[in-house]
Amino acid sequence: MAKARKPNSDDVVRVDFDFRRQLAKKVEGNLASFCYQCGACVGDCPAATYSDEFNPREIMLKVLYGLGEELLVEDSVLWQCTNCYNCAERCPQDVKPVEVIISLKNMLADLNIYPPTVEKIIGTFEKTGRTTPLSPAVDRQRERFGLPPMKPVPMDEISKLLEPAPDEEDDSE
Ligand code: SF4
Ligand code: SF4
Repeated sequence: MAKARKPNSDDVVRVDFDFRRQLAKKVEGNLASFCYQCGACVGDCPAATYSDEFNPREIMLKVLYGLGEELLVEDSVLWQCTNCYNCAERCPQDVKPVEVIISLKNMLADLNIYPPTVEKIIGTFEKTGRTTPLSPAVDRQRERFGLPPMKPVPMDEISKLLEPAPDEEDDSE
């Protein structure tokens, strides 16, 4: 039987705690620290079911290792998450992988890296206060289901909410 090779210093995984500290500044960004890699979040994940690249457990592992350079990239796999929250329901550690992924997406947005679709949704939201604009077809559909018409959006309040918080302005410097 071949003798097991002794580990050397090149084998040591160096965790990038700086990346983890940056992520922890985001809402729920520190939750991945509680992940013990059981994989329960993968079973009911629609993105993992239909994509060979996406796996919430692997994303949490990359976060634990601080592998920001693999996650915060153009065409990041993170955008495949549908925000369905199945993973949050299944996780025995209350990690809420979806929240960690949202925080990672926010880090990407801070770097101005997001797909054109997201850019379009942001533009619509800034203009109308809604992620999908209303249309007569929506009104007709609501009427069919006996729902009242949608109320107007208080755009002055939305604009105030969209103003960056003072600490966010500091972060971007
Ligand atoms: S929220 Fe995202 S990661 Fe979680 S189960 Fe849904 S698609 Fe998968
Ligand atoms: S279910 Fe929770 S603890 Fe298990 S791998 Fe997923 S995030 Fe980690």
